[in-house]
Amino acid sequence: MIVGLVGTAVVKFMVVNTAIMIFLAASSMIFAQDGNLQKNIMNESVVKSEEEWQGCLTSEEYSILREKGTEMAFTGKYYKHSEEGVYTCAGCGQELFSSDTKYDSGSGWPSFWQPISKEKVATEKDNSLFMQRTEILCSRCGGHLGHVFNDGPRPTGLRYCVNSISLDFELRKNETVSKQENDSK
Ligand code: FE
Repeated sequence: MIVGLVGTAVVKFMVVNTAIMIFLAASSMIFAQDGNLQKNIMNESVVKSEEEWQGCLTSEEYSILREKGTEMAFTGKYYKHSEEGVYTCAGCGQELFSSDTKYDSGSGWPSFWQPISKEKVATEKDNSLFMQRTEILCSRCGGHLGHVFNDGPRPTGLRYCVNSISLDFELRKNETVSKQENDSK
């Protein structure tokens, strides 16, 4: 009889233990899924195949954004551009630079002393063309923007040197209104 009781206790113990283990495993799966979900929501990465990029970008945009090309100096549409607003990624639309931080570096490319926020622009070492440079990329789609150098103005001392072709531009709202008013006159 004692053997029988011990046996029942062991079986009960095993059943409870198994139930606890199943519960813990299920909870960790839920947390893991939540964690991944959170990560995806925060990154909002834009991932496309090369064929897809070729389908949605012009050949000039593709060669610079996806093949890390460089537009000719002094030829870009935003080099001398001075309207107030936000420069966005031509690949995915992410906001990258404010006109408030744009300045004339004399380099021939649109230059900014800081991005809209650090998270928007990723950096990578670039040792091509026998130079050591820091490449800048859109953090959302990985599109090549240009390079960042240490010869910029205060307060950061940085020069984000960007291809116009990597950018689109959105006028600031009050500027849009006054432009419409002027157009209607
Ligand atoms: Fe992008």
